[in-house]
Amino acid sequence: MSLSYIPLLSFLPLAWLALAAGLLFAWRRSLLALWREPAFKMPILIVESDDWGAGPPAQAIALDAIRACLERHHDATGRPAVMTLALILATPRPGMAGFASLMDSSQQATLAAIRSGKERGVFALQLHGMLHFWPHALRAAALDQAEVRAWLAAPELTEHLPSHLQSRWIDASTLPSRPHTPEEIQAAVNDEVEAFNQLFGDFVGAGLPAIYSDGWAASFSPTPLVVVPPTFVWTREVEAAWAASGVRVVITPGRRWTARDAQGRPASADCKMHNGERGEGGVIYLVRDEYFEPLLGHRPEQALEALAMKTRLGRPCLLETHRSNFLAETGGDLNNALIELDTLYAIALRDYPVLRFASCAELGQAIRIGDAHWIEQNGLRRFTLLLRRAALLPRFGKAATLAGLLPLLKLFALRDGTP
Ligand SMILES: [Zn+2]
Repeated sequence: MSLSYIPLLSFLPLAWLALAAGLLFAWRRSLLALWREPAFKMPILIVESDDWGAGPPAQAIALDAIRACLERHHDATGRPAVMTLALILATPRPGMAGFASLMDSSQQATLAAIRSGKERGVFALQLHGMLHFWPHALRAAALDQAEVRAWLAAPELTEHLPSHLQSRWIDASTLPSRPHTPEEIQAAVNDEVEAFNQLFGDFVGAGLPAIYSDGWAASFSPTPLVVVPPTFVWTREVEAAWAASGVRVVITPGRRWTARDAQGRPASADCKMHNGERGEGGVIYLVRDEYFEPLLGHRPEQALEALAMKTRLGRPCLLETHRSNFLAETGGDLNNALIELDTLYAIALRDYPVLRFASCAELGQAIRIGDAHWIEQNGLRRFTLLLRRAALLPRFGKAATLAGLLPLLKLFALRDGTP
């Protein structure tokens, strides 16, 4: 080797160090967020089912059948499978001549099925909304949209409304949407939280784990603890009003859409979030970005892949599904959906002996207190999970792998398969 190469070779490590430092510096915020995101110690599977509540009576049969399916499966602690139900509390009468709440005699069978599953510890109840739309927006849209007028004449299933009009926390009567006033938001949140408490307030404490005996839970009316914003469009103001009413956990797709654009698509995301990040009033965000909709052809295999990936990253697997999969009125097939659900639980329990079932309220509480039973405390394990998460960061993962940074750091982490 010529001596003239020596200065060049001694420069290479410095150049590599500068490159590595540059990568880490450029992505420092994302990497820090991944480090702060709590890492769960065990695989966690939660099927989150939206849109149940006031509506067609066929829901009662479907819910009873789902309850029986959930009760057939138990995790290693003996706990039955938990499905969270995001509930709609009222449904319009024909012509929007008032609303029938879940208390209404026409809804008694559905309410009884929900309560029965709650009492048996297989349904965890979450607030979806008083309605799955903003009533004034619907009335305004009906003035010049025949489709909306037809729906209002016989309003059974909000699934049949145009998607943008299913968003509750904006006025999408014309597009792009407009925000509600603070007064409108406050009044609507007060109404729906109060209605939820009237419906399920007698469940105070029932089915909740003992950890709720601390001040976090005792300082507010315990229901609803968890909200699922309809169509994942909501605003900072809505979130603050929920928090002030006692809500502690908001389910998100990883970002907060605040509007609908001119084409009716969710738009104007004003923040992104990871599991465990705090929102307005200290609410804890959970991220739900995997799907199990048999109606759309989703199979248990895909859900199990999602569970495997989430587990590898120390994240709980929240699977989004909807009542539409279980109701013939919305094109669903109850028997097929039950078979798929049953298969999913059976294989998940077979493949993951330490799998845990839980509610989102429990995950929120575990995150809040850093519960060592659920949340990883070991620095080396957390570092290992950080590298796995970082490898999936858009652009950073590829760049840091090509530069040799991630392979080098992995030498200091636990190997794949290490218990
Ligand atoms: Zn919904």
